Amino acid sequence: MLNNLPTARTAIVTGAASARGIGRSVAERLAEDGWSIGIIDLDASASAEAASELAERFDVLAAGWGADISDPHAVSRALDEAEASLPPLVGLANIAGISSPTPYLELTLDEWRRQMDVNLTGVHIVTQRAARSMVRHGIGRIVSISSISAQRGGGTYSKTPYSTAKAGLIGFTRSVARELGEFGVTANTVSPGPIDTDIMGGRLTEERKQGFIDEQIVKRIGAPADVAHAVAFLMSDGAGFITGQNVNVNGGQYMS
Ligand code: NAD
Repeated sequence: MLNNLPTARTAIVTGAASARGIGRSVAERLAEDGWSIGIIDLDASASAEAASELAERFDVLAAGWGADISDPHAVSRALDEAEASLPPLVGLANIAGISSPTPYLELTLDEWRRQMDVNLTGVHIVTQRAARSMVRHGIGRIVSISSISAQRGGGTYSKTPYSTAKAGLIGFTRSVARELGEFGVTANTVSPGPIDTDIMGGRLTEERKQGFIDEQIVKRIGAPADVAHAVAFLMSDGAGFITGQNVNVNGGQYMS
């Protein structure tokens, strides 16, 4: 291939502690593809536990840290430790995120700010710290999770501040892609439609699943592995000529 990802390489995956979440599925898929994995999630012991499961199941190096991605000091500490203990950092999957179902007219400024802090500023904080290392290594892959909510103006569960932050991630990613391309670093987003996790107010009932399926072309509910497949592709060696793009993983619910 043209791009030459090193054989020994680490991907940081944020939000991978949630057992039924997209982050966990991404971490598993990347481990399967030979990446060493550094997990960052809110709870230190859940992150460490997820990492040791990965290490055992896929025979890779993996470790986990507790950090709120909106806290630059905590992120810096976690990534310093990851770099001291794992192979070179060349991948970042920004998966951590929070939902916000509050109707716009009832939204408080605190909730708005927390959405921006985690879903947008948090992604920037982790990306900037990781990108500095990728630039030093001369190669890198950054993939961040946006949402169909950014494209359609909500319509699934979360509302305005979530849609705003997730739309911001697309502009953020295009700009980072433009600045870092000359250093061999790509940046892309993946925008899932409704996926069967617990982020939309708990486990989806069969009735809610059917409601989503009715709006899709592909007649089944999306799975975390559907998203993980797209993330792993964008982080693969052969994807080095793809940057600044958004990949929709939504069963055809929205086309662009
Ligand atoms: P999830 O709730 O299962 O996972 C989110 C993870 O992020 C959790 O492990 C959580 O602890 C972690 N997290 C939350 N805030 C954090 C913070 N401040 N710092 C560090 N970690 C934090 O949800 P999921 O469905 O797997 O969502 C993963 C990503 O996909 C999110 O960014 C979400 O917005 C996005 N997304 C999900 C769907 C869907 O339908 N499930 C659709 C579109 C986009």
